[in-house]
This record gives sequence, structure tokens and C-alpha cells, in this order.
Amino acid sequence: MTAQLRVGVCVLGATGSIGRSTLDVLRRHPERWRVESLGAQRDVAAMLAACDEFRPRLVAMADEQAAHELACALASKGLEIKVLAGESGMCTIAADQASGIVVAAIVGAAGLASALAAARAGKRILLANKEALVMSGALFMHEVAEHGASLIPLDSEHNALFQCMPHLAAPKGDAGVESLILTASGGPFLDWSAERLQEVTPEQACAHPNWSMGKKISVDSASLMNKGLEVIEAFWLFAMPLQRIKVVVHPQSIVHSMVAYSDGSVLAQLGLPDMRTPIAHALAWPERVTSGVGALDLTMLGDLRFVAPDMQRFPCLRLAYAALDEGGLAPAALNAANEVAVDAFLQGVLGFVQIPQLIEAVLDAVPWGEAHNLQQVFAADAQARTLARELVQDWPATREQGS
Ligand code: NAD
Ligand code: MG
Repeated sequence: MTAQLRVGVCVLGATGSIGRSTLDVLRRHPERWRVESLGAQRDVAAMLAACDEFRPRLVAMADEQAAHELACALASKGLEIKVLAGESGMCTIAADQASGIVVAAIVGAAGLASALAAARAGKRILLANKEALVMSGALFMHEVAEHGASLIPLDSEHNALFQCMPHLAAPKGDAGVESLILTASGGPFLDWSAERLQEVTPEQACAHPNWSMGKKISVDSASLMNKGLEVIEAFWLFAMPLQRIKVVVHPQSIVHSMVAYSDGSVLAQLGLPDMRTPIAHALAWPERVTSGVGALDLTMLGDLRFVAPDMQRFPCLRLAYAALDEGGLAPAALNAANEVAVDAFLQGVLGFVQIPQLIEAVLDAVPWGEAHNLQQVFAADAQARTLARELVQDWPATREQGS
């Protein structure tokens, strides 16, 4: 492949866990892809190092001060890279014509605007930012279709489902997909009693047994909200009724998900728990490239375990199914309340078991209504955050009264 044929890539969330894994795959294949642009929030040192190595044409920092510091640091190194700032800068690099591929790996609702900008620019979007789909699934999928964009899932479960789905059209239109089976590791507290869950600390919640990830998704994995968000993500990505999206706990994280067919076949995708596999798959699809991930030796693993999820001890999964069932703006409210609750938990002002209590209180506070346009989605997001923050403030008093 000649240098001119290299595909330009924009990495949004370049300094995070997924962003760094993406850069690691890209660094292995300089003949295939060129890093055109990078975006992040405020980590100037990490962005400077990435600029030094990959020499993108454009970068964006969401934080204005960080953008200024980065521009000064790049200038003093003699690197001519244009620095944009704020959410508008993030949207500009997402839509920039030099990139064919946009890796959407910003965490949380903050990633929605730039992911949408990529969709409207008709990009091939490698989606890690599941919150974007949870918030605005119907509207997001509409923009993707309307502008000829494509969506390839980076989330390991959805990437596994994508790999196990029938890609060849069946002659009579019935490919026979019966259900999607998402696997969940169960997180670090899988076997903990309800009493013990009361004492969980942020450090314990962030120490995932199999995956190394950002803090927010680590807490989501521990509460099973991550699986709840992924059920909603699968609903939109694969247009599957929610009754046919199932969750099974599989603590070893070797089977990344499965597709069950009407003839009784179940197709699974297996691999070591390392995000570079789905990232490399999504970057190269329909081809395959090396990712840096080692070979899977099943004889070294011994038994693989599968159990049903416990929605009593981990109510977040139940709340996500309920919000999806309610539809409209309820999933956006669920997502916003969860982001506030996780933040409060990480700051030590909310207990782990109170995360689902807070989310349920926000979901029950008002009727969330229909999602006709993106303004309504952003308004519901803001309203749910305000409600959740008010509840967090009142929470210590409520707890004292209750104890
Ligand atoms: P992380 O916290 O490690 O990184 C987040 C990235 O987003 C950083 O680069 C940060 O600078 C950037 N960011 C944060 N706020 C921003 C803002 N307002 N504007 C622009 N950039 C901003 O998170 P992560 O673990 O890499 O997760 C990223 C996304 O991928 C999440 O949606 C997560 O659910 C999803 N995901 C992650 C994993 C994983 O293994 N880490 C697996 C599947 C899906
Ligand atoms: Mg996942």
C-alpha cells in the first residue's frame, strides 16, 4: 500500500484507555493508516507526547486553558500542528475531510456532539462512546443512515456480536437471528453479599479483575450499569427487540458475546480481554490485521463459567432494561443520573449501593416523555443531572435519618 492510499484517522478521547489502545494499534500499521487528528479533554502532557510521535495535522482540547498550553508547548518544540479548543473544536476534527475513520472514544455524554458531527460528515465511526447511543439512539441512527455514515462497534461485546452476525444476505431475507447474548464479567463484586456491597470503596470498584479501563466504565462494570448501557447499545446497533437481548455473567471475559440462531446454533467470539482486538478488527474490517494481542490458549484457562445476573444485588441492569422499555428520553435520563452518581461515588460522597437508588429516584421523579429531537435529549440530560445533583446533596441527611 502506498503512502497516498493511507486512510486518515481521527481519534477522539486519544489520551484515555481506548484512545491509547487505538494509538497502539495504529502505531503497528503506519503503512495503512495516518493519524490526522486527535482530541482530548485536558491532559496536555499525554497529548504532547502523542503529537510528537504521530504528527497529526489537527488537535482539539475540550478545555480552553489546556488548548492554550498545548499550543505553546507545540510551538516551543517547533511542531506545526493546529490546536482547536472546546466542543466546537472537537466537532471540527470529527468532521474534517482528511479523516475517513473517526474513533469515538470520549467518555460519557460529552462525546455525543462530536460523534454526531462524525455521523453528519458521513464517516466510518468506530464507536466506543456507548453513552451517545444510550442518550439518543433513534436520532443518532437516523443521522448515520441519512448521511451515509457507518457504525462499527468497538465495545468488545458489540464488536463480538458484529463478528458473529450474518453479513451475507440470506436469499429469503431470514438470517435466523434468534437472540443476542451479551456476556458480562460481573465485575469485582460478583460474589459479594448485599451487606458487603455497602462498604465498597472507589479503589475497589476501579480495580477490575480482567480489563484495564477508565474510572467511569470501571465503576459501571462493578455496578452492572455498563451491561445495562450495553443492552441499550445493542438494541440500537442491531435493531433487536429488547426481549431478545440477554445477559449472561461470564467472569473470565474470554467469550465476548454470542449470537443465537433459530436452528440452535450459537456463534461466539473468543479472545483475551484486550481492547486492541476489537479496535484492530473495527479499523481493518473486513480485513484483519495484527493487534499486538497474544494468542488464546484455551488449555491454560481451565473452566469457563456462565451464570445468570443477579438483579437484586445489582439493580442497575434492571433499571437500564426498564428505561429502554419506557423509551423516549428515559435512557438519556438514566445515563445522566448514572454519570452524576458515579462521579459522586468516586468523590466519596455517595455509597456504591446508593448509585442505583439515586438513578431510580431520578427516573421516577418526572415523566421523561418522547425524544423527537436532539434539543429534547440535551434538555433531558441537563434536567436529570440537576435532579441527581440535588438528590446527592440531600443524600447524607437522608442516610442519617434512615440509619
Ligand atoms: P477514559 O476515562 O480512560 O478516557 C476518556 C477520554 O475522553 C480521555 O481522552 C479524555 O480526555 C476524554 N474526554 C473526557 N471528557 C471529555 C470532553 N468533555 N471532551 C473531550 N474529551 C473528553 O475512558 P475509557 O475507558 O477510554 O472509555 C471511553 C469510552 O469508551 C467510554 O464511553 C467507555 O464506556 C467506552 N468503552 C471503554 C472500554 C475500555 O476498555 N476502556 C471498553 C468499551 C467501551
Ligand atoms: Mg463492553
